Amino acid sequence: MHEHAPILASLPLGTLPETRYPDPRVELLDKRFTYVQRNAAIERIASGFRWAEGPVYFRDLRCLIWSDIPNNRMMRWLEEDGRVSVFRTPSNYANGNTRDREGRLITCEHDARRVTRTEYDGTVTVLADSYQGKPLNAPNDVVVASDGAVWFTDPGYGIDGPYEGHAAPAELGRNVYRLDPQTGAVRVVADDFVRPNGLCFSPDERRLYIVDSGITHGGPAHIRVFDVAREKLENGRIFADDFAPGLTDGIRTDSDGNVWASMGWGDPGEDGVRCYTPGGDLIGKIHLPEPCANLCFGGRKRDRLFMCASTSVYALYLNAEGAQRP
Ligand code: MG
Repeated sequence: MHEHAPILASLPLGTLPETRYPDPRVELLDKRFTYVQRNAAIERIASGFRWAEGPVYFRDLRCLIWSDIPNNRMMRWLEEDGRVSVFRTPSNYANGNTRDREGRLITCEHDARRVTRTEYDGTVTVLADSYQGKPLNAPNDVVVASDGAVWFTDPGYGIDGPYEGHAAPAELGRNVYRLDPQTGAVRVVADDFVRPNGLCFSPDERRLYIVDSGITHGGPAHIRVFDVAREKLENGRIFADDFAPGLTDGIRTDSDGNVWASMGWGDPGEDGVRCYTPGGDLIGKIHLPEPCANLCFGGRKRDRLFMCASTSVYALYLNAEGAQRP
């Protein structure tokens, strides 16, 4: 369970070495973790990336799209035959991706320091690239609410240096923003994060979970949760605070309201994904051989968890469904 990855590149695609049902890499910590398929295992479905992030699943196309940030490209995996190809390059060092309520791809671009929408004809529309006349830092992750509002984080990792974008000074705070679907106006909804990162709504959208990965810059490594009051966030409090010395990056909720959080950069035995109840109790872990940054639910029944972990993408069928999303 706590093995180090031997040599990453030597791992083949498919199930991991010494896999046996039920997958010993899926750890039950609490009887409420009822989401394990006892005859399914973690599969490595794609590999060879420098740093994988931002998975988003397209049910209509039966494909997964994600970002390979340092390689300045986005990739696409076809569920039907497992084929992997380049979806877009250059990607402007894209990071987080999601879909809006009309199914269009929404992308955070580090290098161009903007949030974009890919239209049905393939053209790219800029949704946000500045706030009060100053350029965004480097948007990281994004979700779209059922009213069409686009909520995104702007920690600025993409302007820390050349590897994931380009070096530049931050001209704005490390804020969380909401883009109004009617006016297109961008407003700050949270300004007290060190490095706001992944975010996701509860299934009823009454709560918004936001990661602070500020441990990379002397801050915390935790998830906060807010009550959503129309266009504002209220009553912010700590939801989960047990990631240090590692950190979580990307998060998603399932239909029961559990929060699934990526994990990495600490004890290698903790690399993977964690599952927290809506009350914040840690009830299960998925152990991966590489640090995990982002995840999403997908598959035809939304019961397949896709995990972007360093050089590879992993998938696992669960007895859980992602919260309803296009
Ligand atoms: Mg992120």
